[in-house]
Amino acid sequence: MTRLGMLIDIDRCNGCYNCFLACRDEHYKNDYPPFSAAQPVSGQYWMQVREVERGSYPKPKLSYIPIPCMQCSEAPCIPASKNGAVYRSENGIVIIDPEKAKGQKDIVKACPYRVIFWNEEKRIGQKCTFCAHHLEKGEKEPRCVEACPTGALIFGDLDDPESDIAKISASRKTEALHPEYDTNPTVRYIDLPKRFVAGEVVLKDKQDECARGVRVVLEGEGLRLETATDAFGDFEFDGLARNASYRVAVEYDGYAPQQIDIFTQKDVNLKEIFLEPR
Ligand code: SF4
Ligand code: SF4
Repeated sequence: MTRLGMLIDIDRCNGCYNCFLACRDEHYKNDYPPFSAAQPVSGQYWMQVREVERGSYPKPKLSYIPIPCMQCSEAPCIPASKNGAVYRSENGIVIIDPEKAKGQKDIVKACPYRVIFWNEEKRIGQKCTFCAHHLEKGEKEPRCVEACPTGALIFGDLDDPESDIAKISASRKTEALHPEYDTNPTVRYIDLPKRFVAGEVVLKDKQDECARGVRVVLEGEGLRLETATDAFGDFEFDGLARNASYRVAVEYDGYAPQQIDIFTQKDVNLKEIFLEPR
């Protein structure tokens, strides 16, 4: 069996939009029967790149999340269609048949990820096909994966233990975007943005000098992380759970330690933490 999937490594994505552009270039004005009809001039994002701003000044972060069709193993778009208009191909790709799907607007609403786009002129829903037409010719990867300059998109057969995607999936923690949708996607992510806490440690008695090498420990939710401040006195812990309680302890020889309780409803900027001499 072949089960094609994609891994998206968020840390490697620099938001260049090459994947989006390669998809547009491949599908705009180009029909690939029986897999897909041409994209219209606007309004369709088969590979969209979502920008996620996190934190606040002076500790902001910007992440990019590429979002194709998730190629769900339990895909609600399939039973929502009539006459087998949406089906799973032998290699696991969910396909909307552009002929059979005519007039079936309910298919669009069935997708919780909102990655099916209605083409009013053709009266069909359209979405990413993993470039099924391209793979059928013997090519190894969809156009978006070919175009990605950073290796953020990893494509292959999840059921082949020798494939890169299977090996990376076995060695890294991967997760679904919106697992609450419960559709078991074969597109999975590495390092999706989570909550982070950041701050800057300053020595009160040294004209507010930034403190380098201060020990900072974060504990909570079964986690214990330790770091040291950099030359600017800055520290950061990323990858924290949402809506969770943690304690941050700041310790430096000769200075009174501090403990700060935080709650990650949002990213947390502790700003300046002043250490007083003992
Ligand atoms: S992401 Fe949406 S369109 Fe893609 S397989 Fe899942 S339900 Fe269907
Ligand atoms: S081409 Fe690669 S690096 Fe560029 S936006 Fe897409 S996934 Fe990110």
